[in-house]
Amino acid sequence: MMNDFVLEVHTGSSNRRPRCPGLEPVGKYWKAYGDRTTMLRYSRRLRRRGFRTLVYPVNCDRSTNYRTLFFSSYPADKDGRYHCVYCGNKLTSAQVTVDHVVPVGAVKRSKRLQKKFKYTGVNTVENLVPACRACNRYKGANRSVVWRVRARLGKWRGYFVIKRLLLFAMAVFAFYELYVNVLAEYISKWINSR
Ligand SMILES: [Zn+2]
Repeated sequence: MMNDFVLEVHTGSSNRRPRCPGLEPVGKYWKAYGDRTTMLRYSRRLRRRGFRTLVYPVNCDRSTNYRTLFFSSYPADKDGRYHCVYCGNKLTSAQVTVDHVVPVGAVKRSKRLQKKFKYTGVNTVENLVPACRACNRYKGANRSVVWRVRARLGKWRGYFVIKRLLLFAMAVFAFYELYVNVLAEYISKWINSR
């Protein structure tokens, strides 16, 4: 019998203890490991008793060593530090929070994403990026494609230089437009009225 699936039980705020073979408390949840058929059977039983459950492949769960994996395979910047892929802020390795680009919580809940990560699992270095605490918290469990694009672009430090230049150019352009369309008229009126 293969232990390749996880049954995760959420008890929410109630202190009710879910009962099922092999179920043990892991962090905020209860978890049991086994083959898919058995886990689904237990899951149905627990759902009938009012518990919220998830059944997903073991490799779609957050691993205990993904942070170690990240630091051993993700290239640091030239100065030995990292930068947040979402805002570009410089981070020391102690400040880095390692973010799963496609959030673990989303994969646990989506058959389609589980298929996508079938062979690699969610804890690959391709799915891990450095982020500052604020950006990581702000992103949360958001699985939108916008975050995936930002993560991919943000890996390249030059992206933030170009982004700043573009914002500056837009600000100059906006001011120029404002001047031509609004201020110039006021100024000429003011001059003519004297
Ligand atoms: Zn950030």
